[in-house]
Amino acid sequence: MNDIFVSESVVKSQLDIADKLKTEENKKVCILTFGCQQNEADSEILSGICERAGYAETDNPKEADLILINTCAIREHAELKALSRTGQFKKLKEQNKGLLIGVCGCMAEQKERREALMKSYPYVDFVFGTDRLFMLPEIIKNAKTAKKRGVYISDLPHGEFGIIAEGLPLRRNSLHKAKVSIMYGCDNFCTYCVVPYVRGRERSRNSQAVLKEVEGLVLSGYKDIMLLGQNVNSYNGDISFPKLLEKAGSFDGEYFLRFMTSHPKDASSELVDVIRDVPNVAKQFHLPVQSGNNRVLSAMNRRYTREKYLEKALEIKSKVPGITMTTDIICGFPTETEEEFLETVDIIKQVEFDMIFTFLYSPRPGTPAAKMDDQIPHEEKVRRFELLSSVQNDIADKINESYVGKTVRVLCDSFENGMCSGRTSGNKIVNFTGSSKIGSFANVKITSSAAYTLKGEEI
Ligand code: SAM
Ligand code: SF4
Repeated sequence: MNDIFVSESVVKSQLDIADKLKTEENKKVCILTFGCQQNEADSEILSGICERAGYAETDNPKEADLILINTCAIREHAELKALSRTGQFKKLKEQNKGLLIGVCGCMAEQKERREALMKSYPYVDFVFGTDRLFMLPEIIKNAKTAKKRGVYISDLPHGEFGIIAEGLPLRRNSLHKAKVSIMYGCDNFCTYCVVPYVRGRERSRNSQAVLKEVEGLVLSGYKDIMLLGQNVNSYNGDISFPKLLEKAGSFDGEYFLRFMTSHPKDASSELVDVIRDVPNVAKQFHLPVQSGNNRVLSAMNRRYTREKYLEKALEIKSKVPGITMTTDIICGFPTETEEEFLETVDIIKQVEFDMIFTFLYSPRPGTPAAKMDDQIPHEEKVRRFELLSSVQNDIADKINESYVGKTVRVLCDSFENGMCSGRTSGNKIVNFTGSSKIGSFANVKITSSAAYTLKGEEI
């Protein structure tokens, strides 16, 4: 197990290189992040390393000396967005030969994608994989001197890689919201999903390291902390995930402790009890169902049935009344028939989710589902998507109406012209009149509702 940890001396040697790079002044880095919270968390590490190497952060690529593009491969659309952005930097490189451009993240991990990218974008100086973040100082140093373009990818065979590097610097995007990775990678191999191939094997941080980070955040005034992992329920540090959640939620002070994501096959009753019993643990549960039909679930390799899912969802709702339940759904998985799709519509109605995240199935090269016969036409995926959205809008409308007249605790995220906006423990968006400061809690009486927002006034 220990061999997955990057040794302290290796991390230190990288940070020493960063310190040497710092001697050059007035440098700026622009980091573009695509995709999920894990990529956002990785970009905060990239930013922290760059800060250590003397780079201020800028949103404007035109004033950057270094551009890092942190890509996502989960759906084709995400890949196209990252490529189109990379294409826009050709001119900047022509105008400024000293500009360094690097591509990292999930696309960089896929051999074919990486090779195509290096070929089509000759001005990209280097690419590095999802578990090479800790090497960024060396990567930048090499790019400044090397004649060759750099490629930094784990040298283990595809799908078998994965390391953990502790002690890297972080530059967080927010002063009151933070993400804490508790584990990396995924071993589930759902047949549609590229994550296990681009993020490597499942591996967990030690609980002491996680808890120290959470405690530090609470002490510095962070109020919304998200524990991150592709399947937090299979967290395999020295304690179980429910225990970790309980401990992380028990530091002094008021804060929302969230987690993302939970695989239904291992969401335990103990976990539901912790959500119910620990006040700081947010009353929110994201439990991706993907499909409501048993044949499709089996073809997706999800390893739970519709019945088991319903049982778990109903247990959560009955143990934690008022909890916000959300889910992910894939529309138009290959071979999905109309009858099978209607079972997904039915499960949405039965559970009554507060929100669903619906995705059109996107074939991912190298995954089993991409090779299946009977791929569903795009228009049909869109039709199913629209039907689900309209059913869900009515459900969300009805749930949110039940908040009118109630008082909820809201963490304020923004304030402009007397209007505040924030989130509840259940992650509901509330827009309200008041004078709350960003990062502080307010009691808000809800006066009206829409499907995905609540309106109210501070009391
Ligand atoms: N680990 C999480 C889980 O199992 O629920 C999911 C992580 S994935 C980044 C987020 C969501 O993207 C998935 O729940 C799934 O609905 C969606 N997704 C993954 N692969 C997809 C694909 N090939 N096409 C469409 N949606 C996909
Ligand atoms: Fe992808 Fe399945 Fe792993 Fe989630 S659990 S990241 S959907 S393979």
